[in-house]
Amino acid sequence: MAVPKKKVSKSRRNQRRAHDALGATQYEECSSCGELKQPHHVCPACGQYNGREVLESGTAA
Ligand SMILES: [Zn+2]
Repeated sequence: MAVPKKKVSKSRRNQRRAHDALGATQYEECSSCGELKQPHHVCPACGQYNGREVLESGTAA
């Protein structure tokens, strides 16, 4: 079994994690309806992804 050679102190561990926080959610305009949506996500307004309808429109929240 692999065992760490040195115990990482709370300070070092926390310094490493100082860069791990999640940033603000990004949005872009949907290319088919213009609503704001998250990149690489199906548009919740029109149900389109990559120019193709993948959800029944109207039923998506
Ligand atoms: Zn859309």
